[in-house]
Amino acid sequence: MSQFDYDLFVLGGGSGGVRVARWSGGLGAKVAICESDRFGGTCVIRGCIPKKFMVLGSHFSDEVELMRSYGWSTETPTFDWNTLKAARDKEIARLSGLYEGMLSKNSVDRFSGRGVLTGAHSVEVDGKHFTSKYIVVAVGGRPTKANIPGMELSVTSNEMFELEELPKKVVVAGGGFIAVEFAGILKGFGSEVDIVIRADKILRGFDEDVRGHLQSELQKKGIRFHAGVTIENIGAAGTLRAVTLSDGTGLKADLVLCATGRAPNTANLGLEAAGVKLGTRGEVLVNELSQTSVESVYAIGDCTDRVNLTPVATTEGTLLAENLFNGKKYSMEYSNIPAAVFSQPPLATVGLTEAEARSRLGEVDVYECQFRALKFTLSPSQERTYMKLIVDSKTDRVVGCHMIGSDAPEIVQGLAIAIKAGAKKHDFDATIGIHPTSAEEFVTMRTKRQK
Ligand code: NDP
Repeated sequence: MSQFDYDLFVLGGGSGGVRVARWSGGLGAKVAICESDRFGGTCVIRGCIPKKFMVLGSHFSDEVELMRSYGWSTETPTFDWNTLKAARDKEIARLSGLYEGMLSKNSVDRFSGRGVLTGAHSVEVDGKHFTSKYIVVAVGGRPTKANIPGMELSVTSNEMFELEELPKKVVVAGGGFIAVEFAGILKGFGSEVDIVIRADKILRGFDEDVRGHLQSELQKKGIRFHAGVTIENIGAAGTLRAVTLSDGTGLKADLVLCATGRAPNTANLGLEAAGVKLGTRGEVLVNELSQTSVESVYAIGDCTDRVNLTPVATTEGTLLAENLFNGKKYSMEYSNIPAAVFSQPPLATVGLTEAEARSRLGEVDVYECQFRALKFTLSPSQERTYMKLIVDSKTDRVVGCHMIGSDAPEIVQGLAIAIKAGAKKHDFDATIGIHPTSAEEFVTMRTKRQK
């Protein structure tokens, strides 16, 4: 008989927490998990999934324009925010239920409430005390707001899913994933959108050419950019928000969305008191096995602020379960993780940016192309697809792949397998294209960009 109530106690029922709990349960461990909200976490409840429904929903306005160019006549369709909201929320409730079902199927005990670490082997959930051989912290992150006067008058991505109606005019602060995705959603549904970025371009950390191309595509869609400035103040003007920028510009909006980043959700969890070391941003510090400074306590997902993506958190969860309960010693490999920004048009990427490749490898060859995709050539749309491959000149290995355009995330997911497997440019060249597609351009790019 074990000296502990459980083999594993998981704090947080998001993608990472649910994965490590159910996988460990499947391996025969006695597992419990606590969550203060519904199961599913940011991704399912207030992130990736509901956001994608809104991206899909808002994109129909472009499709209507295209239909006309292809001979369809339609009355101008109208959009009802609450129909989409209700359908989306129903599906989110179903998915959250599926998460619970997976836990139950793997005999994981579920507790409702916020768990607090009370020692190396003990947790408290709403006054109930439990002991466990291992504890996994998987509490995720939360949106943060920039420290600007009047910021309390703004909303974060969390509240975007609760809005009762579509705002007519929106100011978005920030130019990261969340800002760019919501700007596209709102624009697609018909809102006027202004983005305020302190840098000259959106999406810091992405390839420079990709940043520039996407920004100009968003501008073509009518999103207005205020670059190189910050928001100085937000005030109330009747039912509107009055936003003053550092260059003196004044903007009026129904809504201000603050999308200036997220932070690990690690406050008041008893972590430091239990000896778990945190970094300067509040992230749980872990080694390559996701183990914290306390031997029996592990952490995975956004609360560790490594690569903050759902599939990374779930993989960290699987590997950790295998290590703890199946005798493995897997560590996560963080290179060549594909990612997408569900902007409109979408962006997807795997591997290095050109700047990263040059600084790590020295000589690189760059192949790029841009074109109007076939489906737009019958229409007035001036949207241009952009593709870029970065190749290590010494080894011919493709080390970076970037695309902006329809279906970019679907296309780059496939290419990520080739790149992960070490494909060379020669392999891309030897692959026959599927004609006529946009994706075939990835196997027909022959001319290196002039240095
Ligand atoms: P990001 O870190 O991606 O972007 C933050 C943005 O806010 C940047 O443009 C940054 O500007 C700006 N900013 C930060 N502080 C200030 C400030 N004080 N004043 C003005 N501007 C500021 O954060 P997000 O919240 O967009 O996303 C968080 C994370 O969530 C992402 O990194 C990603 O891992 C994940 N995510 C993934 C998605 C996906 O996979 N599709 C979708 C949504 C989120 P600057 O560039 O100048 O620093």
